[in-house]
Amino acid sequence: MSTVQGTSSIPGLPVPAEVGKLYDRYTALGAASLGENLHFGYWEPADADIPFEEATHRLTDLMASRLRLAPGDRVLDLGCGVGTPGTRIAKRHDVRVTGISVSTEQVSRANALAEAEGVADRVRFEPRDAMNLPFEPESFDAVLALESIIHMPDRARVLAQVARVLKPGGRIALTDFFERSPIPQPGRAAVDRYLRDFMMTTVELSAHPTMAAAAGLWLEEMLDISDQTLRRTFVELSNRIRADKSHLDGVYGEDLVDAFDPGDLVDVPEFGYLLLVARKPPR
Ligand code: SAH
Repeated sequence: MSTVQGTSSIPGLPVPAEVGKLYDRYTALGAASLGENLHFGYWEPADADIPFEEATHRLTDLMASRLRLAPGDRVLDLGCGVGTPGTRIAKRHDVRVTGISVSTEQVSRANALAEAEGVADRVRFEPRDAMNLPFEPESFDAVLALESIIHMPDRARVLAQVARVLKPGGRIALTDFFERSPIPQPGRAAVDRYLRDFMMTTVELSAHPTMAAAAGLWLEEMLDISDQTLRRTFVELSNRIRADKSHLDGVYGEDLVDAFDPGDLVDVPEFGYLLLVARKPPR
C-alpha cells in the first residue's frame, strides 16, 4: 500500500502527512470524548431532545440521504475517520465503501470495525491522500466527505479529483467550515486557535460555486446547518472533557486535552458549518 505524502509546503496550509500524524495522536482522545463518530452532531430542530451520539449518526444519515444511494453502489468515503460513518452507510444502504484517511492509526481501527460489523467483504479502508486519488476514472457512484475537506490544502484540487473518479450522474456530499460574517474578538482568536491546532482552514462561501464549476460539477445544494450542529456539539464536547479532565490529562497529557476542549468556541455564532451537494453531469 502506498503511504501518505505531504503535498503542501505553503506556510499556513495543512500538510496531509502532518494531518495524518495529528489524527494518529488525537484518535484515542477523540473516541474517549466525542465517541466513534469524529464529527459534529445534527439536531433538527436545534433544541431537539436527541443524545449526542444519536445526533452524530443523524449527520451521517443526512449526508447519505443527499447521495441518493442505490444497493450495490460504490461509495468513496473521503477522510473516513475510524470508519463509523462508512460502515453505517454500507449497512443501511447496502453499498460498497472504500474509505481513505491520512492517519494509519485510523485506517487500522476502521478496518477492524468493518471486520467486527461483518462487512469487511464490501467495506475497506486505505491510507491515501485525497489530493492524489489513486482510483480509476469513473469508479464511484458517490463520494462522502464528512468534515475532511477542512484539512485539505487545496479544495479546488480535491473537487477536481473527485470529479474524475465519479461516474457521470454521481454525487458528492461534503461539509465545510465558513465564516458567516466577520468574527469579532474574542471569537476571532478562538477560531484561529481551533483552525491552527487542528490544521484546518475555512473558505469564503462564494468560492464553492466557482470551485464546483471549475471541476465540472453541478452545484445542487449549499445549506447553512450551523444552528443544527456547532453550538451543541461544542457544549457537549467541552462538558464531557471538563467532567473527566483529570483522568484524560493523566492518559493523554494536559496540552492535548486542553487543545481538544472547544469551550472557547461555544459563543461564536459567526463561525459557520456548511453542507454542500454537487453532481457530475449525467452522460
Ligand atoms: N469523516 C470522518 C472523519 C472526520 S475527521 C467522520 O465523520 O467520522 C477528518 C478526516 O479527514 C480524518 O480521517 C483525516 O485523516 C482525513 N483527512 C484529512 N486530510 C486528508 C487528506 N488529505 N486525504 C485523506 N484524508 C484526509
